[in-house]
Amino acid sequence: AVVTRFAPSPTGFLHIGGARTALFNWLYARHFGGKMLLRIEDTDRERSTEAAIRAIIDGLKWLGLDWDGEVIYQFQRAARHREVVENLIASGDAYYCYATPKELDEMREKARAEGRPPRYDGRWRDRAAFEAPGDVKPVVRLKAPLDGETIIEDKVQGRVSWANKDLDDLVLLRSDGTPTYMLAVVVDDHDMGVTQIIRGDDHLTNAARQMQIYAALGWSAPAMAHIPLIHGADGAKLSKRHGALGVDAYRALGFLPAAVRNYLVRLGWSQGDKEFFSTQEMIDAFDLAHVGRSPARFDFAKLENMNGHYIRATPNEALARELEETLPYLPGGAERKHQLDAAMQEKLLAAMPGLKERAKTLIELLDGAAFLFARRPLPIDAKAEEILANGGRAHIANLLPLFAALEEWSAAGAEAVVRDYAESARVKLGQVAQPLRAALTGRSTSPGIFDVLAVLGRDESLGRLRDQAG
Ligand code: GLU
Repeated sequence: AVVTRFAPSPTGFLHIGGARTALFNWLYARHFGGKMLLRIEDTDRERSTEAAIRAIIDGLKWLGLDWDGEVIYQFQRAARHREVVENLIASGDAYYCYATPKELDEMREKARAEGRPPRYDGRWRDRAAFEAPGDVKPVVRLKAPLDGETIIEDKVQGRVSWANKDLDDLVLLRSDGTPTYMLAVVVDDHDMGVTQIIRGDDHLTNAARQMQIYAALGWSAPAMAHIPLIHGADGAKLSKRHGALGVDAYRALGFLPAAVRNYLVRLGWSQGDKEFFSTQEMIDAFDLAHVGRSPARFDFAKLENMNGHYIRATPNEALARELEETLPYLPGGAERKHQLDAAMQEKLLAAMPGLKERAKTLIELLDGAAFLFARRPLPIDAKAEEILANGGRAHIANLLPLFAALEEWSAAGAEAVVRDYAESARVKLGQVAQPLRAALTGRSTSPGIFDVLAVLGRDESLGRLRDQAG
């Protein structure tokens, strides 16, 4: 059975690149009916934080990327990592190295002078332990092969090989007895039964090191897929400047998780020109063969457009629910949350068809709904004021008694009133609709004006119109 894992280091927030790695692992596992495990690589005790762990877990949950089984914390497995190193020492595949910091410095200097990458020279490889100097705490190094090649058949990168003479004996245990990242990853992936590694191609060189550890242990390595990193629209590696924000920031910007997921799956993977994928379609179609080899470009405008598409495609009730759940994360949302009683929820739902046509994000949706929440007398923005000042108020004054006489308050009823009035006053519909909009919403843009009238209801509509009839 297929087992993948997402293995973030909790040293920062779950950024968009990490989210994509998680998504690919999740899709691959779900495609094959396998498992995706979650391993928090918290061995860097200085830089790992609880807040980052929370952000990773919240981010995955928000994106709907569930994992199988318990979360595994790498640091808790240190004893097992040490045990594996002891076995390697016993079998002669690893050794204590007493090289001093000064000696290592000298090796680095020498390499630099000769213009080659720094390399441990293997001076403790074959020395017997009794020569150990008492004053140096040793590290444990892998006795890596001196010749031949280390080869990875990567499902994205193809065949990649390294000459073993270029790979020095890497450290497995530090002098304080803590396992290194390279060792921990191998032991954990093996013990967790991982069959397929999917991660950023910044780990490709590490993969060569890890292959050597697998070989020394006599374990078979999982299949590998190193995916190109995400770049900004300008081609440079993605940074904050490009929108390399934490996943939580995308929620606060009003993106729907389904839209973010759809956007992310297309970052580096494609199936022809198909742009929109339901979750099930993604699961059915995902494969590693169609992951590209060149870096994907992150395009904020595309994400916004995709989000707009999802907003329009989401049924009104589901969208209202999504907005309500997201409110605490949106700017000004907490205040709205207070105002969102049952009556307001009903209005919001009624206004949703008009609102969602105009919004690319939940922030825009909420902003479009501002007229629902507004209290009399309404704040009137500059453009709206201009419309009212230029003859608008007279139309409103004329319309007021006609609306007041309307028997059944509805969008169709309001429309009939306005049309009759425009006809008898010999003005275009827009010349009446715009002042109405200005008075009812305080703005020059809004959902269709008859819907606005219907959603606000008779009393509120008449009140707002009276405020501006002047
Ligand atoms: N913890 C590593 C990272 O966050 C990933 C390790 C791996 O996937 O093997 O970059």
